[in-house]
Amino acid sequence: MKITVFGSGYVGLVTGTCLADVGHDVLCIDVDQAKIEGLNQGVLPIYEPGLGAMLKRNHSEGRLQFSTSAERGVEHGQLQFIAVGTPPDDDGSADLRHVLAVARTIGSHMTGYKVVVDKSTVPVGTADKVRREIATALAARQTELEFDVCSNPEFLKEGAAIEDFTKAARIVIGTDSERVRGLMRECYSPYNRNRDKLMFMDLRAAELTKYAANAMLATKISFMNELAQLAERLGVDIEQVRQGIGSDPRIGYHFIYPGCGYGGSCFPKDVKALTRTALDAGHDAPLLNAVEQVNQRQKQTLFHKLQQGLGNNLRGKRIAIWGLAFKPNTDDMREAPSRSLMEALWDAGASVSVYDPEALNECHRIYGKRTDLNLAATRELAVEDADALVICTEWKAFRTLDFAWLKTQLRTPLIVDGRNLYAPQDVHRAGLAYYAVGRGDSL
Ligand code: NAD
Repeated sequence: MKITVFGSGYVGLVTGTCLADVGHDVLCIDVDQAKIEGLNQGVLPIYEPGLGAMLKRNHSEGRLQFSTSAERGVEHGQLQFIAVGTPPDDDGSADLRHVLAVARTIGSHMTGYKVVVDKSTVPVGTADKVRREIATALAARQTELEFDVCSNPEFLKEGAAIEDFTKAARIVIGTDSERVRGLMRECYSPYNRNRDKLMFMDLRAAELTKYAANAMLATKISFMNELAQLAERLGVDIEQVRQGIGSDPRIGYHFIYPGCGYGGSCFPKDVKALTRTALDAGHDAPLLNAVEQVNQRQKQTLFHKLQQGLGNNLRGKRIAIWGLAFKPNTDDMREAPSRSLMEALWDAGASVSVYDPEALNECHRIYGKRTDLNLAATRELAVEDADALVICTEWKAFRTLDFAWLKTQLRTPLIVDGRNLYAPQDVHRAGLAYYAVGRGDSL
């Protein structure tokens, strides 16, 4: 099939590349010229395991192309995927500016039947807005053409995006059109062989399903972080509790790790947007509000633990930070807990020396050159002359650590671990203080 994908970010690139990989003829469009120029030369704008090789192979074999020409994009695909960003607006609602801009473009250039497939995460009712935008653009051209709009939310995780797309647990499609069902079935049939993963539902139900999934996962995280705060005050090790409840199949082990708060481009903005949707519908959604509040508080927890370990005045201290990305296997630092920590430390007059296997460039792009930020090339260089070490991201490479060596590097023998990576007794044996999350030490 001929497919166009608007937006060449995490979702657009993974969608376009995976669809090309099963033989579709895909054109990816983006308004960012530098991004498209880079992609045409095989330079990826993001780090995502496995994506580079797959993208280059399909590009060189001619099934995957990149362009800034929206007109060419509208001409190319019968399916027009929208995978542009939907960042939070000032009031928490999803900003639909980019989505509606693509809809206008489609309406302005289409010359035949198109299916507009909304893959961006958008509030209930957005498909109607997209439909109206296209109809208005067509009317301005005094043209009448058939088109359909459907919702196909994306559930991939950064860091495992290819696997998630190609082996999706489900493919949700919101539509009331038989014709769209047929075309979407054809589009996904290469990924739908093992069992039928296509779940057709009402359009508005599909839109809400995406928010429901993210809000549920965020709720699990905030619930565990709430309990970690309590466990700390009760002198209970939350890790024992985690295992105790995870073993119940009704609860399960996924997404119940206590930590330094959730980040990324999705959970924070989607919880806020769903809260806003609820408010607009006349419901104040107390649970969603609490999920967000708990997370905000949890993101401050590492800073408070440093104050407990080093004294309230952190001016002049140098803090080593391992892990900047909001989670492992990505370079994405949007709303990452590391950012809350760095910014709090800078406000307090401290400096940071940071290491991340993939996100150093992103850190430099966000914060630029500053004297209180040292981008270290290795984890060893990051701890040189540091007062204490903080772990913000659970990269695999951090899971083992020579504690005796670390003690010789730090001015104060203190690890603040936002991801509960180590056994407290191992750290203590080496003579270091260990402040993890919900494990008692820092109180
Ligand atoms: P992103 O910021 O990485 O990429 C968006 C891209 O769209 C950018 O390259 C931008 O230049 C481009 N763009 C903006 N306006 C455009 C236009 N008019 N025409 C063409 N391109 C345009 O965003 P992302 O992380 O890929 O997220 C996209 C959507 O998917 C969001 O709604 C997000 O909530 C949702 N989503 C994201 C993830 C994730 O893990 N990142 C997972 C599931 C769903």
